[in-house]
Amino acid sequence: MKNQKTDNETFIKILGSQSPFSNRDNACPSYLIESGDKKLILDCGSGSHRFFDMRELENVNIIISHLHKDHFNDLANYQYSSLIMHRQGFLKEGIDVYLPEFSSPISKLLKEEKDAYCNYHSIDENAKYEIGEFKIDFLKVDHAPGVDTFAIRIKIFDKTVIYSSDMSYSSKEKFVKFAQDADILICEASLLRGHGFPEICNHLTAFQAGNIAKEANVKKLILTHVWAFEDENNYLSEAKQVFDNVTVAKAEEIYLV
Ligand SMILES: [Zn+2]
Ligand SMILES: [Zn+2]
Repeated sequence: MKNQKTDNETFIKILGSQSPFSNRDNACPSYLIESGDKKLILDCGSGSHRFFDMRELENVNIIISHLHKDHFNDLANYQYSSLIMHRQGFLKEGIDVYLPEFSSPISKLLKEEKDAYCNYHSIDENAKYEIGEFKIDFLKVDHAPGVDTFAIRIKIFDKTVIYSSDMSYSSKEKFVKFAQDADILICEASLLRGHGFPEICNHLTAFQAGNIAKEANVKKLILTHVWAFEDENNYLSEAKQVFDNVTVAKAEEIYLV
């Protein structure tokens, strides 16, 4: 982890890592991955756009993993900024937005937004996209009934970054295959074992995230989607029981890929 980005590197900047709301120091889930002149933003949860420099909007691609508001609320800020920045001559090309459930009422509403300078694309389990050096594919995971939710795999040169999105432990087996040998796994850990939820529910515990990282043989685990009121050290110590190279994501941190 480092605090400053350098040119010619692929890096991840955390724009938000908590739920269900943002506060002064952190925001809901959002991750900027930058390589060359291309920028990928995975999810844009509430409050997260304030950690992104809007002067850098050229070449931005936004992927929304599922249509829960803690993952797409700030899309409106990118949409409106794209229009104004374009009109003011600061943005040449429309930004690209990738949405699940493309024909659903929520996706339709987002796409019909008039005050935006965006292109829209559909994601599903068979979708594959190449954006600059990013090669991207998806895995449908169990999360909330009726909400299509996609884990995202990004290959950049010889490195692989996996983002779990929100996920139930019932998807563990297929997700372990999807994430096998990845360099970085950004994995949700909304819960702790002490919270008392059943083993299979809508989210993962830090212990389950650690187990997944171990079984998938990833090099580094970054825990995210933590409960806004919880002490991050509790997530860390629970995951460390099974997997050692782990951190808890915080807004504005930068990880080299
Ligand atoms: Zn969710
Ligand atoms: Zn969420």
